[in-house]
Amino acid sequence: MNEALAKHTKTNLLDLTPAAAHAQLARFFERSDEPAYRANQVLRRLWQAPVATFGDISELPKRLRESLADEFALPRLEIAARQKSTDGTEKFLFRLRDNEAIETVAIPEGDRITLCISSQAGCALQCAFCATGAMGFTRNLTAGEIAGQVREMRLLDPPIPVTNIVFMGMGEPLMNWNAVDPTLTILNDPNGLGIGARHITVSTVGILPGIVALGERPEQFRLAISIHAPNDSLRQELMPINTKYPLAEVIDAAKVFDRRVTFEYVMLGGVNDAEEHAIQLAKLARDCRAFVNLIPLHPGGARGFTPTSPKRIRAFARELRAHGVEVAVRKSRGVDIAAACGQLRVERLGRRPPRRPKHDGDIQVA
Ligand code: SAH
Repeated sequence: MNEALAKHTKTNLLDLTPAAAHAQLARFFERSDEPAYRANQVLRRLWQAPVATFGDISELPKRLRESLADEFALPRLEIAARQKSTDGTEKFLFRLRDNEAIETVAIPEGDRITLCISSQAGCALQCAFCATGAMGFTRNLTAGEIAGQVREMRLLDPPIPVTNIVFMGMGEPLMNWNAVDPTLTILNDPNGLGIGARHITVSTVGILPGIVALGERPEQFRLAISIHAPNDSLRQELMPINTKYPLAEVIDAAKVFDRRVTFEYVMLGGVNDAEEHAIQLAKLARDCRAFVNLIPLHPGGARGFTPTSPKRIRAFARELRAHGVEVAVRKSRGVDIAAACGQLRVERLGRRPPRRPKHDGDIQVA
């Protein structure tokens, strides 16, 4: 980019932590001879009570709204599709500036609304049963694009009041730590979205450096690990990443993580749902005092796999409990709108052959 152009690149306030955005705004208002409280006025309008454009900050004089818009960017995520399931689950397909598409799912349950957010466009990991893996990896999302998914819920009319966040949409959050790290701050900070750390869950296949980095954050963010197979040979078949981060090392990382972890286990009929698997899984879970979530397979997008019957899932849960493990069976949500990871985008845009990342640098680990 040439210098003249670079000078005119607007700073995207949504890619910054609230503290960094405040610092930028404070400098801007100081240069403009405006009182310091202006920075707080704008900060509140980024995440807490968000506006669609600077022009909507009605508490600011019009000329200030215009000069803000000249200096800073406040990009939206465009809703390309929105579907509502009969069970209340709502699925959004967002289109990004470069035409990439990502998915976000809002799942109401009692007095909570959990938002399942994406951290990458596509995914490089190619887990055998996952629709996102089948589309390959395109790029990392920025912090503004990840937290922006929650912001967009607040901008809807009526808004969707999200109470919980899970990083269980498209992508592997711990292979995009440079963006996920500030995103966690934006989600949790009272000057950001103000969602309690214990209500925010990062889900990973077991990217070890990322687990360490997450554990080093002082907030009580939750960690979920996609285990899906209780021994190396089966896990290898289902999850190619197991070559790089084998099961035993993932379990060791879970043991030293200073908060209790959850194991995610997708039930694949005739593949990982026998009693011997329950016994092996129970040992792993006991070793690191993990809580186990059994997830019924969403059949769409999972080529060649069939769901375990509900009866067998219940029996599997009993087998785990009999071996001293706490377990929950997840309800399948949004099956009628193909709400599992990657499914809506696959339905809309068709499958592409899996792609390798364009540059190794696209994928960063903590
Ligand atoms: N890469 C991270 C974050 C994505 S989470 C991770 O794998 O944990 C996606 C979650 O949805 C994972 O637990 C994954 O196993 C689950 N999932 C993917 N495809 C699924 C399907 N067809 N049915 C049910 N769950 C699925």
